Amino acid sequence: MLDNLYVWIVGAFFLLVVFIALIWMLQGRPIAPAGKPRRFCPLCKSELAANETLKGLIVDSNPPQKILIRGCTRCAPREETGTW
Ligand SMILES: [Zn+2]
Repeated sequence: MLDNLYVWIVGAFFLLVVFIALIWMLQGRPIAPAGKPRRFCPLCKSELAANETLKGLIVDSNPPQKILIRGCTRCAPREETGTW
């Protein structure tokens, strides 16, 4: 009788853990901070502001278009001209 009760308790706990894990995965991990994801410059790794854009040169206008990333406002070469 005691063994049977123990199996029931362990089984119920296991099912509860599985359900919580499923809900956690489906909701996209609610523990993570909400809002926009943080963005970083791929060249100098500094964090970008909310509306900050990267500078790039359009290398090939024929599809598929290729864009050469030159950096953010802090690390992009200022003397370079082109399609910013
Ligand atoms: Zn940068």
